[in-house]
Amino acid sequence: MADLLIAGRLVLDDGTEPADGWLTVDGARITEVGAGDPGDRRRREAGRVLAPPGALVAPGFVNSHTHLFQTFLRGLRDDLDHSEWIGRVIGDNAGRLTEEDVHLAALLGSVENLLAGVTTVVENHYLHTSPKNSDEVLRAMATSGIRGWFARGTLDIGDSIRAVAGPGAAATNVETPDQSLGELERLAGEWHGAAGGRISVGVAVQSAWAASTGLLERLAAFAHDHDLLLHAHCAETADSDRRCRALHGRSEAATFAATGFLGPRTQMVHGVWLDPEDLEIVADRGATVVHCPVANAYLASGTAPVAEMLAAGIPVALGADGSASNHRQDPFESMKAAVLLQRARTMDATSLSPEDALRMARSEAAATLGRPGEIGVLRAGALADIALLDTRRAHLQPVHRMASTLVMCAMPADVTHVVVNGTLVVEDGVVTTLDQAELIERCAHRAADLGFAVGTSPLGGSRT
Ligand SMILES: [Zn+2]
Repeated sequence: MADLLIAGRLVLDDGTEPADGWLTVDGARITEVGAGDPGDRRRREAGRVLAPPGALVAPGFVNSHTHLFQTFLRGLRDDLDHSEWIGRVIGDNAGRLTEEDVHLAALLGSVENLLAGVTTVVENHYLHTSPKNSDEVLRAMATSGIRGWFARGTLDIGDSIRAVAGPGAAATNVETPDQSLGELERLAGEWHGAAGGRISVGVAVQSAWAASTGLLERLAAFAHDHDLLLHAHCAETADSDRRCRALHGRSEAATFAATGFLGPRTQMVHGVWLDPEDLEIVADRGATVVHCPVANAYLASGTAPVAEMLAAGIPVALGADGSASNHRQDPFESMKAAVLLQRARTMDATSLSPEDALRMARSEAAATLGRPGEIGVLRAGALADIALLDTRRAHLQPVHRMASTLVMCAMPADVTHVVVNGTLVVEDGVVTTLDQAELIERCAHRAADLGFAVGTSPLGGSRT
C-alpha cells in the first residue's frame, strides 16, 4: 500500500511530452510510475489519492542560488548597479536583522519558493552578525518542508569588501579562516542529513576577490574530505573580474581552479564575465555554472554567455538569486528570462530553447548536488519532489508543447500542489507546514519596524 497516489498528465523528465499516468510514493521516494489510469485497486489501497482535474504532474524545480535573509530587503532600491547595491542595500541594511528576523525572512523565502513549485533550494548564507543566524536559516528551511543545501559563505579580506561597500559592510561576513572552518565543521556535524535527509550542508565563499588563497584552499579541502557541495559567486561583474586579477594575478575561474575549489561538485554562480579561456577551465574541471539572468540584468551586470557555456559542454543550472537583487523567487520568470536574454544577446533564436531552460531548472542541477537521477525526474527510485500545475487557465491553453507551456506561459500561481521528500507541503496553493497567512502578516509588521534605508536617486538620474 502506497502512502500517496498521484494521477494526471505526467511529465516524466525534461525530454518527454506529458501523457496520462500515475505514480505512487512511499516514504521519501517514488515507488512506481505507470501509464493510463491507476485503476480501482491502487486508488483503494493508497493512503491518499491526489488527482486534481487538469493537473500537470512534473518534477519540482531547483533554485540553485539564493540568499534567504534577503527576503526582508526586497525592493528597497531599484536604481543601483552591483557595486553600489552591495553597499547601499546589503551593507547599510543587513546588519539590522536580528536572529529572529533572519529566521522569519528565511521562512518567508522558503514558502515563496515552495509556492512556485521549487522543491530544492541552494541557500548561500553569509550574514554572520550572529553565529546563530545560520541555525535560524537552517531551522526555517527544515520547518518549511523544502529540500535545501545550506552553502555557508565567508570571506577573509575585509579591505576588499570595504573598498566596494563602505566601512561598515565587512562586519556582516568577514571572518578568519579558522572561524569559517570551525563553524562549517559545527554546522555539518549538526545539520548535514537533518530533517529526514532534506537538509545538506555545503561550502561557499562569497567571492575570490575578497578571499585569500589560504582560505580557498582550506574550504576546498574541507569539502573534498567530507564530499560536500562547493559554491561561489564567480565573474559576476566586470568589476569583480578586475578586482580578482589585481589581488590574485589571475581571473576568478583560474583562481578557483588553482586553489582546488573547482571540480565536479562545484557551482560557479553567475559567470557573466567568463572569457573563452575561463570557459575552458570550468569545462575541464567539470564544474557547473549557475545562471541568474534576472539578478544579472537587474544589477546591470550583463548577460552570461550561456550559449557558449553549453557549446563548451558546461552544465548550466538556474538560480533566482536573493530577493534583494531579483525581488521574486520564481523559476518560471528565471527560465523565460534566460531564454529571452540569451536570444537578445546573440540575436539568434536558437541560442537557448525552452527545453534548455527546463533542464537548467531541474535535472542539470542534480549532478553537482550529488543526486543525479534522484532530483529533477519522475521515476521509480527518485526522490518524491513533485509540483502539480492546474492547466485550466486562460494563459496556459492550448497546451501544444510542454516546454513552451512551462517556460513561456506558466507562472507560480499555476502551482496548486507540491510534494517534497514524499510529504505534501503545498495543497490548493497554500503551504501545509505552517500558518501561511500568519507568517506573511508577521513578516510585514516586523520588516516595517526595522527602519531600512529605502530610497531612490533623483528622477531622471544620468539622463538629465
Ligand atoms: Zn548571490
